[in-house]
Amino acid sequence: MILSNWINGEACNTSESMENINPRNGKEINRVPITPASDVDRAVEAAEKAWVKWAKQTPQIRAAVLNKIADGIQDRFEEFVAAESIDTGKPEALARSVDIPRSISNFRFFAGEIQHQTSSFHPMEGAINYTLRRPVGVAALITPWNLPLYLLTWKVAPALGMGNAVVVKPSEITPTTATLLGEVCKTAGLPDGLFNLVHGPGNPTGSALVSHPKVNAVSFTGGTETGRLVAAAAAPQFKKLSLELGGKNPTIVFADSNLEKAAIGAARAAFLNQGQICLCGSRILVEDSVSERFTNLLVKEAIRLKDTLGSLISTSHRAKVHSYVEAAIVDGGEVLCGGKNFGPQDGAYYEPTVITGLKHSCRTVQEEIFGPVVTINSFQNEAEATELANDVQFGLAASIWTKDLEKAHRVAANVESGMVWVNTWLKRDLRVPFGGLKQSGVGREGGAWSLSFFSEPRNICIAISDSVDGD
Ligand code: NDP
Repeated sequence: MILSNWINGEACNTSESMENINPRNGKEINRVPITPASDVDRAVEAAEKAWVKWAKQTPQIRAAVLNKIADGIQDRFEEFVAAESIDTGKPEALARSVDIPRSISNFRFFAGEIQHQTSSFHPMEGAINYTLRRPVGVAALITPWNLPLYLLTWKVAPALGMGNAVVVKPSEITPTTATLLGEVCKTAGLPDGLFNLVHGPGNPTGSALVSHPKVNAVSFTGGTETGRLVAAAAAPQFKKLSLELGGKNPTIVFADSNLEKAAIGAARAAFLNQGQICLCGSRILVEDSVSERFTNLLVKEAIRLKDTLGSLISTSHRAKVHSYVEAAIVDGGEVLCGGKNFGPQDGAYYEPTVITGLKHSCRTVQEEIFGPVVTINSFQNEAEATELANDVQFGLAASIWTKDLEKAHRVAANVESGMVWVNTWLKRDLRVPFGGLKQSGVGREGGAWSLSFFSEPRNICIAISDSVDGD
């Protein structure tokens, strides 16, 4: 079976397609269209025609459609769970508790958010200013394979909510739930041309979309290197750009923390979704005086978690993950647990892996691995913890484990990352800003930040005195 694209409200196919492989057993699930530039062009044209009328609808009408899309996913909940789980290799339980419920919440949340917007008003001598927002028009949304529907809906819901039309390109490795979403949008009564889906690889499909002259905004989530290409393609046309990129996030464990809780939290942060979440804490920094005790607790937890893990996204990705473990051994690291495959021979399973004894400058500690591999380094004091936390090119997220609240505030303020958790990890409130510093991205999404990204503020200045002076 070949999955459909969605263009102008029609399910359609392309002449060329590629395999979509089940990472649990290496077998073909379905085939994915390789959308050529000419079809990307059709999708953008359809979007361009559709958004103008949609933008004139009231937020209440747009919100009603977003809520119907949420209902449509809810009605086909188990079908979405199965599709997401088989495409990614993640356990169904995870798709059922995280990916699909959060996708539904994205639509419901932004349905509410767009109805509660306010506009700014700036009175001045002789005049008043007020701000109007208009949609950006056609938005290109490009997403990765680790949380396919969750990250896609995180962009689709606010973009449509603000009156735009979208052309989405999900990862070609995890395409199925995007096609299902197209079906749901149609059934929910979303007007044709507002949700367009073009499947295919970065080249030719993604690059044709990003560089299309009628695409006004690009929201991209993916790796830092791909983000660089996307930014370079978008820049000459001055497109609005939001980049959610990679991370190498520190989990900082102080001696005064509840070590048992910290070990459980750190293991969850390292291994949830097989370590394939941009926010995963893949770099543990632990205070020297409790390093041995904490490490033992962490290893115990890592071994326990093995049976809860699904497969990685592919055997080729697993090979990349394993190459970092091999590099760590060459660099003098000690693998305390994991470091090998498990499960069915043709599946892409990899054991939760804990490595210690590496210099902080090693590749395994510095580069994003995006798998179930965590390193441990120790520190002597708060200053060193902060210095090590910041000693990477990324700045996406961090978690701090301590009972000392003053210290937590200080370290949180000094750690260079877009998001910091204290004594927890991955607690998400959809209203808060989401995004990274340094090489982890540009811009913020979430709540009002998403609404702002998917719209353009315009100032209207009205004279209220007889003066016509422009100053
Ligand atoms: P990639 O950067 O490889 O791909 C992301 C998306 O970009 C895919 O849809 C991909 O298509 C597409 N793409 C590839 N080349 C181009 C191009 N030249 N122009 C336009 N689009 C292109 O990331 P992965 O899919 O491998 O996902 C893992 C990465 O995503 C990790 O680095 C992770 O940290 C990051 N990520 C960041 C998050 C954040 O919020 N900061 C959240 C989740 C993940 P295709 O795959 O079909 O080739």
